[in-house]
Amino acid sequence: MSLSTPIAKLPRIQPQIAKKFAQLGLVTLQDALFHLPFRHEDWREQVPIADLTAGQEVTINATVENVTSRRAWHRRGVTIIDVTVSDDSGGKLHAVWFNLHFLAKSLNVGDKLFLSGTVKQSKSGRLELYNPVYERPSESPLHEKLVPVYRTTEGLSQRQLRLVMKQAVALSHLVTDPLDRPSQNALNIIPLPDALTHIHFPNDHEQARIAVERLKCDELLAWHLRMMLSQLVAAMHQAAIIPFHEAEIRSFVQHLPFTLTNDQRVAAWQILQDMITTKPMSRLVQGDVGSGKTVVAALVAYNSALSHVQVALVAPTVVLAQQHWKTFISMLGKHETRIALVTGHEAKIFVAGTETAVDRQEVLDALAAGTVSVVIGTHAILQPDITFSKLGLVIVDEQQRFGVDQRQALISERTPVPHFLSLTATPIPRSFALWLSGILSISTIANKPPNRVDIISTVLGPKERVVVDKTITETVNRDEQVYVITPLIEESDSLGVRAAISEHERLSEAFPHARVGILHGAMPAKDRVAILDEFRNHELDIIVSTTVIEVGVDVPNATLIIIEGAERFGLAQLHQLRGRVGRGSKQSYCFFVTDKDSDVTVQRLQRVAKTTDGFAIAELDLQERGGGDVYGQRQSGLPTWQLATLSDRDLFERIRTFTETLSQTQRQTLATSLDSDNHAPNEFHPE
Ligand code: ADP
Ligand code: MG
Repeated sequence: MSLSTPIAKLPRIQPQIAKKFAQLGLVTLQDALFHLPFRHEDWREQVPIADLTAGQEVTINATVENVTSRRAWHRRGVTIIDVTVSDDSGGKLHAVWFNLHFLAKSLNVGDKLFLSGTVKQSKSGRLELYNPVYERPSESPLHEKLVPVYRTTEGLSQRQLRLVMKQAVALSHLVTDPLDRPSQNALNIIPLPDALTHIHFPNDHEQARIAVERLKCDELLAWHLRMMLSQLVAAMHQAAIIPFHEAEIRSFVQHLPFTLTNDQRVAAWQILQDMITTKPMSRLVQGDVGSGKTVVAALVAYNSALSHVQVALVAPTVVLAQQHWKTFISMLGKHETRIALVTGHEAKIFVAGTETAVDRQEVLDALAAGTVSVVIGTHAILQPDITFSKLGLVIVDEQQRFGVDQRQALISERTPVPHFLSLTATPIPRSFALWLSGILSISTIANKPPNRVDIISTVLGPKERVVVDKTITETVNRDEQVYVITPLIEESDSLGVRAAISEHERLSEAFPHARVGILHGAMPAKDRVAILDEFRNHELDIIVSTTVIEVGVDVPNATLIIIEGAERFGLAQLHQLRGRVGRGSKQSYCFFVTDKDSDVTVQRLQRVAKTTDGFAIAELDLQERGGGDVYGQRQSGLPTWQLATLSDRDLFERIRTFTETLSQTQRQTLATSLDSDNHAPNEFHPE
């Protein structure tokens, strides 16, 4: 047997079972080896049956007393296997399975059985385990250890998975470790074959933890090296030198409707400094929601245009591209910059004070000819088929993954390599920022413009929701505007459209004199842009929206945001949503509304309500999620890994120190072997 042996060829594996494995992407033993358990059940702590209560998650070690099977009366073709078990404590329990005929046939009175599941109490009062995971002591010594639980598919039991895993783990010594002994020591991690063995079948929790740590390390190291290498590749190319046009920038700043904050100045200065050399800039500007990143982008775009290079501003959505187009026209238009907008559904050019709708092709021609200096759009504007006469700077707003991918695409296609700037409203936890700082330059806009009044946030439980409608009325009467955010409720309604529609209906009826609009992801981009324009022009008073508006929308006259089902959102996400208000000088309000009145829910929401410091919330969010849910993280634009999380600070540090000791060639080699498919061994191992 070797790692490349197909699971289908193993003894006792029927073709239909092999098919189930294949559905999980598991074809060979090697695939199985890298299919990691997501948790372990502790089968060492067995609870006496007499002590069981309903709701408990348990493992018991019992003796079979009786086996019966009967047809289910309510579902045809289903047979119920009912096994009565007991133990020394004198208690009795029923284990119930559906259609496990072979089990019914093979069980005899007096057999020993390990069972694991959640205890239920039937109507007649007897205690039951439905579909428990079971194991016979004779089959393996597994019961003395922690038992792995895997992601699986219907018709493939944990037992069947474990059976194959045991055979896969027996071959783990054939896996080539991409890290040699000295590297393992430097990183303080165990060899990969040991880690694979222990993550499947650990002796105790500590052994499992150390195994997981090793695998996390590979993941983070691969990510780190990829980032480093992309910077290295960039550094091998030359970027255009873009000098600082002091007089013009001074005039630009003077013409702004506000004074730049100190943080905005410093960020702009750092960016401009980076661009006066041929070394391609890689800088990230992190600034809390509403801290004013757009003007910084506009300033550096203007400075670049003055040097006759082109600037591409990439927005995450059409709605935001449209908003940036307006902002850029108002800030740069008077300085005679030629600006273009290209999105999936429209193209426009702004020249000498006039905005003209044109064909998409016309914009592309202008970019190739160099008659447009700044182009705004979604990521489509970076496609290789779009030719620039001289692209000098790319600015990516609110993007994912720190732009590594975009960066790579840009480098391979273009000379000179453009400078690269990304903007994010997701405050990066300090430990992670430190790690990144070896790879990216980071500017931080920590303070908000001085005209801001802190948003007043309130948590409303089910009994207090009357306040909502009253406050909406007051806000609309003051000629200010309102966002109502509806959450994603059902899995099947993945864009949350249904909740938005019913809330829109409710509010339209409740406020007949207010103009109520709706915005959700299932609407065509054109309509979304139009609705948001109406809201921006104050042709709407209230906008009901799903989280589409989460990122970047800027309507300073909106002073009230109501977040329904607030308990469903991550803390950082709540903060982002709240950031839609408080963007002008008026007092703004935020209601976190929840139908759950449990103390835990309310206290959790209170934590966000109590502070408007995005960095503090980022830390809270990190603590809350710990090793868990990546949903919020994905939403926030921070990177996601399979096992590692942003709280693995200790590993960040070890990896940073380690990579510094490597030569470029070593980094390259290691990155390649870490990325190679599951570290496949090079040779064939006949056995
Ligand atoms: P974000 O950082 O979230 O992208 P924006 O760039 O959209 O924030 O800016 C938010 C609002 O703050 C905008 O309406 C903008 O005009 C305004 N703004 C930006 N800088 C300042 C400043 N220095 N003083 C006052 N208002 C500012
Ligand atoms: Mg923004």
